[in-house]
Amino acid sequence: MLAAILYGPNRLELTEIERPAIGDDEILARVLAAAICGTDFRIVSGKKTRGIHYPSIIGHELSGEVVEVGKKVLEFKLGDRIGVAPIVPCRKCLYCRIGLENVCANRQAIGYEFDGGFAEYVRIPAVALESGNVVRLPDSIDFEEAAILEPFACCINGQKKANVSAGDTVLIIGAGPIGLMHLMLAKARGARKVVSSELFEGRRRLAAKFGADRVVDPAVESLIDVAKEETEMGFDVAIMAVGVKDLVGDVLKTVRKGGRVSLFAGFPEGDTSVIDPNVIHYNEIIVTGASSSTRQNFIEAMQMVEYGMVNLKQLISHRFSLREINKAFDVAKSAEGVKILIEP
Ligand SMILES: [Zn+2]
Ligand SMILES: [Zn+2]
Repeated sequence: MLAAILYGPNRLELTEIERPAIGDDEILARVLAAAICGTDFRIVSGKKTRGIHYPSIIGHELSGEVVEVGKKVLEFKLGDRIGVAPIVPCRKCLYCRIGLENVCANRQAIGYEFDGGFAEYVRIPAVALESGNVVRLPDSIDFEEAAILEPFACCINGQKKANVSAGDTVLIIGAGPIGLMHLMLAKARGARKVVSSELFEGRRRLAAKFGADRVVDPAVESLIDVAKEETEMGFDVAIMAVGVKDLVGDVLKTVRKGGRVSLFAGFPEGDTSVIDPNVIHYNEIIVTGASSSTRQNFIEAMQMVEYGMVNLKQLISHRFSLREINKAFDVAKSAEGVKILIEP
């Protein structure tokens, strides 16, 4: 089969390899769509190395069709259409036991420890089947939507932590794929007003198209002024969908007393931010993080798409064949695309 093998930083090479053999309690799926995640180009460019080994096949946002079923597998059959929640929790560590399996101490993931979706076929390891990480897709969800359920599940995790609720005013910083997903999700959760802040004009247009009540160019307008104009006392919630260290201090000042701030995006390793701790202290601000998603978040994401609460499909801007994967990564790196799919 054809696979994009990552041999090292900036060495993603198309290689013809053996189709993976499966064990009795595993399945093999033909990959029908695999999306490029922001994490993937951090991995390819060598900025992220944790959990990565070489050579390997990355790609953790994927969907496919079952083409081989191990003897002992009862719950899947040939031809089943599947979606994959990539993070496989150990289900035993402290975090798993207290409901934080997304930060499991022994987590393994498809597209990291296990070979992922940038190939014609993917082996689903026994442990992923056992833990219910693979789901049969409802008929109303196509392979393309299924491939982008994972990042949406991560947004659900983030907004639950920041408690985005009906009637809230929400500021979302960044209108890349994740910022746009947060926008749709906040609306679906009943936010009364959502303001998107984004440097790139093309992305500001998308935010307006996808329902932002106001779109702001942070190079021209101050977010603190916008908060004063658009809300009585400040936003109920601010979500940072970009990891820009110098913004954190200001973002804390855009929310009202008792407001919530989600540092959703990761920051480049080693970055530190200067903040005024009294803003958090006197304003009783709740600051939360968000890392990855749980199997439950994945099911919730699937149900929201199934019942038409969000239209993720409109985020797909480019489709490439596996042979064009390096071109696809170039587009992903530029701010020109939104969600980019590889369709082997
Ligand atoms: Zn992802
Ligand atoms: Zn665990």
